[in-house]
Amino acid sequence: MFKVVLIKGDGIGPEIADAVVKIFDAAKVPITWIEKQAGLNVIEKHPTGIPEDTLEAVQQYKVALKGPTTTPVGTGHKSVNVTLRKSLELYANVRPAKSLPGVRTRFDNVDLIIVRENIEDTYGGIEHNQTADVAQALKLITRPGSIRIAKYAFEMAKLYGRKKVMAVHKANIHKLTDGLFLKCFYEVAKDYPEIQSSDLIVDNTCMQLVTNPERFDVLVLPNLYGDIVSDLSAGLVGGLGVAPGGNIGDDVAIFESVHGSAPDIAGQGIANPTALLLSSFQMLQHIGLHQTKARIEKALIETLKDGIKTRDLGGKAFTNEFTQAIIDRL
Ligand code: NAD
Repeated sequence: MFKVVLIKGDGIGPEIADAVVKIFDAAKVPITWIEKQAGLNVIEKHPTGIPEDTLEAVQQYKVALKGPTTTPVGTGHKSVNVTLRKSLELYANVRPAKSLPGVRTRFDNVDLIIVRENIEDTYGGIEHNQTADVAQALKLITRPGSIRIAKYAFEMAKLYGRKKVMAVHKANIHKLTDGLFLKCFYEVAKDYPEIQSSDLIVDNTCMQLVTNPERFDVLVLPNLYGDIVSDLSAGLVGGLGVAPGGNIGDDVAIFESVHGSAPDIAGQGIANPTALLLSSFQMLQHIGLHQTKARIEKALIETLKDGIKTRDLGGKAFTNEFTQAIIDRL
């Protein structure tokens, strides 16, 4: 039995987390959930949004599945996600974008993986006003950080039989910072001669992604470009309802969908649990339960092919009907 920390989060989090738990129960996945809290529902007692015992449990059990948590805009606590990523050194944000049968988009053969550096770049929160009219933010790229993320991308490519890894950057303008990222990428690439390595400027990458996304395989990017390009890639395969992710470090990994807590639809029973389910597939692969993953994935694909979809994908199914349809196809 594997032990995995389950953080349901807030907004639609509990609805979609319950759906995944139900599917795992029906599929008899050998996981015991250690349920812990984070987000708006604990904010009064824990102003950071994360109780100490949640953090400790993630450190102890090493793997977590997390629903979205709300971050108040402008005021209040820092993002729970940013805190988790930084305090647990979750340096790789892995976001696959894969076409799903039955989910209509302009392309039907997209199968790419975004590997985003998750800690450095402009996300260090080092910003200040120089004068009332001038603000400055620090873009921080380090050799260890760049080597570590490049290695992660190549190792992942090797493990999953991927053929190509591409570094995405703006080293023509940010010659020192992105230049260092790129230099480290090619140093690491030398150790993986069996994998094709290349690089592309981020603006050109965006243009090519929206015209010819099938040509891309694994992309590795500094934090900010990774954040933006991964949402663009999610849009290529059907949007936020089907965009999964993993935040991975050497020791600990937290899997969660790309979307947020969707307060506009929370409590209505219409949320799409697919993104969290796809994130749970990444988790199953991470812990080595490949066959279990394949079995549930097949049931999900059959459900979508049969036209059973939630409203965000143009269907009519409520969360519980969609969940039951997957269970019926296991
Ligand atoms: P959002 O992703 O929550 O919602 C954007 C739109 O997509 C909404 O119309 C929503 O209804 C829809 N949507 C999102 N997920 C859906 C799903 N599974 N099924 C059906 N429709 C779905 O983005 P937002 O409204 O900008 O953010 C809401 C809150 O979530 C904010 O506080 C934000 O900080 C937080 N957030 C958290 C995470 C996280 O915990 N990982 C990620 C992003 C945003």
